[in-house]
Amino acid sequence: MIITTKLIVKGFSGFSLWPFIFVRPEHRSDFSLIEHELVHYREQAWITPFWVLLYLVSRKFRLGAEVRAYTRQIELGGVSKGEAAHALLSYRLGISYSEAMRALA
Ligand SMILES: [Zn+2]
Repeated sequence: MIITTKLIVKGFSGFSLWPFIFVRPEHRSDFSLIEHELVHYREQAWITPFWVLLYLVSRKFRLGAEVRAYTRQIELGGVSKGEAAHALLSYRLGISYSEAMRALA
C-alpha cells in the first residue's frame, strides 16, 4: 500500500516499512522511485523488524540494500548512476563518491 505523506526525513523522497511504502506528494508518480521502494518492500516482507534492525545497525547491509534498490532505479532510467552515487552519500555509509560509484558498478 502506497501512502503519500510529507512526514519523510529531509533529503529523502520515500521509504518502505512493510506493508507500506511512504512517498512525498511530489513524488507520487515517480515510477522509478516507487520501484526503488518496492525492492526494499519485497526484501522486508514478513521479516520487517529484522530487516529494519539490520538496516539501522549495519552499514554493510544498508549499503547492499540501497545498491540493490538504486540499481533497479537506474535500470528504469529514473536516476543516473552519478545521481544514485550522490544520493548514497546521504545514508551515513562512511563511503566516498568514488566508492559509491564502484558499489553501483
Ligand atoms: Zn532506498
